[in-house]
Amino acid sequence: MRLKNAGLPLLAVILCLTVLTACTGNEQTVNESTKQQSDQEETETPNTVSDPTNDKTSKQANSKQQDDDNQNKDNTNNNASQQEKDEPENKKNKESSNNDNASSDNDDDEELLPNDTLTESDQGKQVKKVQSALNRIGYSLTEDGVFGPATMWAVKDFQAQQSALKIDGVYGPGTRDILKEALNGQLSITPGSGIKKEKQNEEQNEEKSEENPDDNQNNQNQSNVISDPSSFLALVNKSHQLPAGYVPDNLVIPDVSFPFDADLPKKQMRQTAANALEKMFAAGDKAGVDLFAQSGYRSYDRQEAIFASNVQDHGKQEANQFSAQAGESEHQTGLTMDVTSADIGFKLTSEFANTDEGEWVKQHASEYGFIIRYPKGKTNITGYQYEPWHLRYVGKNDAKAIDEQNITLEEFLGVR
Ligand SMILES: [Zn+2]
Repeated sequence: MRLKNAGLPLLAVILCLTVLTACTGNEQTVNESTKQQSDQEETETPNTVSDPTNDKTSKQANSKQQDDDNQNKDNTNNNASQQEKDEPENKKNKESSNNDNASSDNDDDEELLPNDTLTESDQGKQVKKVQSALNRIGYSLTEDGVFGPATMWAVKDFQAQQSALKIDGVYGPGTRDILKEALNGQLSITPGSGIKKEKQNEEQNEEKSEENPDDNQNNQNQSNVISDPSSFLALVNKSHQLPAGYVPDNLVIPDVSFPFDADLPKKQMRQTAANALEKMFAAGDKAGVDLFAQSGYRSYDRQEAIFASNVQDHGKQEANQFSAQAGESEHQTGLTMDVTSADIGFKLTSEFANTDEGEWVKQHASEYGFIIRYPKGKTNITGYQYEPWHLRYVGKNDAKAIDEQNITLEEFLGVR
């Protein structure tokens, strides 16, 4: 794994580099030995402080740009489609007024509150009843009987305000009981005080293109430099930066499959995380899924170059939605690995979630200490689009706790 100095070619690469992936500015890989994926690879570029890299693949940089762009669009579309309808208004419809009578009658709540378990994508009368009940305690859902993103948000926001409830967006017996208490005035709920509302992003995309879409919670102007960057729970996001010179100790290359051969710096992870990744990949192998590691450690300098090139192509505002600024990428911690599968051409796209590998990872990553750092529907908390491929090591216990509660690292730490 000798990484040779790239010199001037390296600079040239950085300049024309355009590798962005939704993955917090992630560059992908490639190398001549993997021609099959030529459509997705990005260039590897060198980087870093201590590890100038070989630039074998740099020539491919420009040709990849197109694909990367497509990839980004895909992600954007996915994101948009998640945010569809389910808008407010309509608080009073006949159902809610009917229910007003019943709500004073504690025993008669089957009418009001379905006994079914309901969650995302469910439809019908029962969902409508839940929407109506939520509206009666202050939410503003369209009572259309569709358990879409707005209803999901409201259920989670409601759950987030009751410590007894899991924040999982599932309307089941526990949520039902507490919702009943709320309807009876036995406890009070403040819509929006549990989980930030996703809709804010939507409005901004449509209306206020001048504004930084992340202003709501991830204002990078308020960045704090992380004081303990080597902690397994270090929170790195658009408001918490790693120190510029921070290079993790004990970076090693995990013994797992990569879709390219070259010993690039991005193969590296911190020893502890690398060991955990090896165990996870071995278990996956046994279960019949074929995982590939695509991109791990990335230096501050490297991230700076990637972000600059993204800004050049997309403008700062847009770049900010899928690419991290230097110091704001988790890849600098050495605790992160982007994983993928052959089925999707080793790309880093949300399609990964639908592959056997993606499904297995979602189910089992936490057993090895990893979380899916940018989950679906949490963009307004994490500041990033859904990235089913981006795994962050936090240690087994915490990973399990985060996974079970279906929350983000921000929520787990109670910080944003
Ligand atoms: Zn990533």
